Amino acid sequence: MRYKILILLLLMLMSLYALYREYHFSTKKLWMSYQCWSLKNEPELQLLNWFNSTYSVNSTHVRMRATNWLAPIVWTDTYNESGLKKYYKKHPVSVGLIVFAVGRYLWYYLQNFLISANTFFMVDQRVIIYVMLDDFSYMPFVSLNRRRTLKIFKIKRERRWQDISMMRMKIISEHIADHIQYEVDYVFCMDVDQIFKASYGLEALGDSIAQLHTYWYKESPHKVPYERNELSEAYIPLGEGDFYYHAAVFGGTATQVLKITKECAKGIMNDKKHNIEAIWHDESHLNKYFFLHKPTKLLSPEFCWDLRKNKTPDIETVKLYWNFKNYEFLRHEV
Ligand code: UDP
Ligand code: MN
Repeated sequence: MRYKILILLLLMLMSLYALYREYHFSTKKLWMSYQCWSLKNEPELQLLNWFNSTYSVNSTHVRMRATNWLAPIVWTDTYNESGLKKYYKKHPVSVGLIVFAVGRYLWYYLQNFLISANTFFMVDQRVIIYVMLDDFSYMPFVSLNRRRTLKIFKIKRERRWQDISMMRMKIISEHIADHIQYEVDYVFCMDVDQIFKASYGLEALGDSIAQLHTYWYKESPHKVPYERNELSEAYIPLGEGDFYYHAAVFGGTATQVLKITKECAKGIMNDKKHNIEAIWHDESHLNKYFFLHKPTKLLSPEFCWDLRKNKTPDIETVKLYWNFKNYEFLRHEV
């Protein structure tokens, strides 16, 4: 009997030790968990504290400030930066920025994208920039400010540019599941052929973020280029849909972006199985996703503008703009 109790005690001690090895119990950690728990119980950021939904009396043009499912549409004059700063000072967040630079896009665009992101993207926040490239030797040297980290990953180059663009969804979802979700709170996914031009910060954070497209934001849904082939997973029936979103910018919490990219990758792969390619590739699938699962925040075209287009009075501050493009040169197949 005594022998059995001894074995039992020994087993208990061994399991306690295993538990300690696994979790490295410490009072500091206990205190941190308590702080996390108490922060979670604090009130969330209220729309009222940062979003200005009223029109200025002098305004000569109308900017749509909310969707019919009541998601805010963020324009330069719709947010109150000090309200946002005050909130995020108490609730610090870290933001990931994922960018792909494969083939000629790598040495043609990446450096300017990174230099401008360093200056304007989420200033004062902790940022990790994830660069997905196909050749380490072309990685440009970029000196980063405080609280910014670069993480570089090598990926396989697809032969066709359409596949490079579409495979981003699959690769992003795998990286978020593997490590990004443990490293940052929010994730932005962006095309590399763009340059930041003004502060692009806390006003852009949200659970799931979609970008209004420069060329389509004033059009009604039946005119925009959604996928119309019923056999494609990206199909949106004529007359349905809300807005046309630009795949050059989307984001949200790590969990939401994991869901978005996983679903889009699934749609793309299913289409591939049936030899179908949606008209605007990953963008068509992203539009389908946001048609089924409405984004919680929309960014005005100021967050992704084409400077070749005449600036209309509603575009006050361009925060990010399309870099020049020579498709023939850039999209060579290997
Ligand atoms: N991309 C790349 N190499 C390529 C094609 C695409 O790195 O050969 C990446 C890059 O980040 C690019 C994005 O995929 O910005 C989307 O492609 P692109 O910008 O050509 O699409 P568009 O802006 O014309 O829709
Ligand atoms: Mn692009």
